Amino acid sequence: MAGHTLANELVPNLQGDYRILLIDALDYSFWPIAALRAAVVPGWEEKIVLPLNTATVFPEGSIHQVIAPNKVVQLRPNSVILENPFEGSKEVPFFRAVLATGSIQPSPMRPSYDWTKEDYMQGLRKSQDELKRAKSVIIVGGGTVGVEFAGEVRALYPEKEITIVHNKSTVLSPDPLPISYISDGNGSLNTKEKIPNSWTSPPTHPKLSRYLMSYLEAGRIHLVLEDRLVIPDPDARNADSNDWDGSFGLQPTIKKLRTEKGQKIKGDYIFLAAGNKPNSSLVRNVDQDAVDKNGLIKVDNTLHVDSFVLGNENYYAIGDVNDAPGTKTAYLATVQAKSAATNLINEIQGKRLAPYNPGTFSGLFVPFGPDLGAGSITLPSLGTWTVGTTVVRKAKGQKLLLDRWGDAWMGKEKVTIIP
Ligand SMILES: Cc1cc2nc3c(=O)[nH]c(=O)nc-3n(C[C@H](O)[C@H](O)[C@H](O)COP(=O)(O)OP(=O)(O)OC[C@H]3O[C@@H](n4cnc5c(N)ncnc54)[C@H](O)[C@@H]3O)c2cc1C
Repeated sequence: MAGHTLANELVPNLQGDYRILLIDALDYSFWPIAALRAAVVPGWEEKIVLPLNTATVFPEGSIHQVIAPNKVVQLRPNSVILENPFEGSKEVPFFRAVLATGSIQPSPMRPSYDWTKEDYMQGLRKSQDELKRAKSVIIVGGGTVGVEFAGEVRALYPEKEITIVHNKSTVLSPDPLPISYISDGNGSLNTKEKIPNSWTSPPTHPKLSRYLMSYLEAGRIHLVLEDRLVIPDPDARNADSNDWDGSFGLQPTIKKLRTEKGQKIKGDYIFLAAGNKPNSSLVRNVDQDAVDKNGLIKVDNTLHVDSFVLGNENYYAIGDVNDAPGTKTAYLATVQAKSAATNLINEIQGKRLAPYNPGTFSGLFVPFGPDLGAGSITLPSLGTWTVGTTVVRKAKGQKLLLDRWGDAWMGKEKVTIIP
């Protein structure tokens, strides 16, 4: 998402012989915002993938190119190494490189970076089919992904049993932040600051949790709170074949699962919604010091990668993979892409670099199926509001922002967004 936006921002502003090479492991783009519905509702798998190639991304007559499918496998200070050759060589030299490798999360949230489009769509169809056959669905994790998935299943299957196991006192993450994250950046405490520098699972508004809890209750979704599921090693042999073996998806029969506090739950479809990891191994492999304890690539205030080994000017990192202030959302990934594009042009023109500013707006809309949902909006100096179904259904729940995805495609070959 961030890489594509960056290319779009650069195209009209780059002058001279500078060429953009957009390298992606996949020759298709996917829309994670609708991935959960695509995992449940037949037909939606067709809507969330679009062809990623030079013709769909770049305008007629441009010198820029998409190199996909191809992976970057190694970073050097002034070049990257590809898995497969491009223009006769695996080594691609550059003026500046921008890392936008996102996060790692299991399918259906994201495809594996080795999958073809057909593999991903097949995986989504399998998940739709398995959910249709399942009697009792257990969701591990009650963050936005777990709650949204529960809503999708409930909307299509009003009678299936659904259980969410979540380690907090209510859904999402309304618990106060650890004190070490409440800082003004100068080492002194600032109790007004609610947003930590970078946090993949940000604190959410308690009222938003209460709103969503009311939908869960009305939808007869069973909640196991302040507890965790014990996930056995799938390779370990089980004495009782009715015990869950730790594998996810559809089980051959109803299985018995245990929580850390000793609760027993039964289900035959297990869905893991327990977070994601930054896809930062390319940097970690060359410079461990350039990656923080959460696995995020360290960047400075202009989004340049802070690395002695790679050089502090050569690389930018944008989107889910970096430790820039703000939450990990598509919205901020695009704000960062625009900031990096401005600074790339500034560098070429010898101008002063502008610091990245995430702004003070933040919004979190959680659909609960196409017709229900709740959200929160934070506006500068006005505070945080929660909104309910009417706003969330119209703004997001029905189309899952697919209508906005079309704006990203500026190539000479038009893509078709399926409504
Ligand atoms: C289920 C779900 C729902 C979400 N809902 C919302 C929402 O409602 N609103 C919102 O704002 N955000 C949402 N998000 C978050 C949003 O999708 C991410 O924040 C956003 O995609 C981050 O963009 P990115 O460019 O950093 O990473 P990505 O969009 O993940 O792109 C990373 C790209 O890097 C490529 N890549 C990775 N490694 C390599 C390599 N070695 N070589 C070449 N290419 C590589 C991948 O193929 C991929 O195309 C959601 C995420 C999920 C999973």
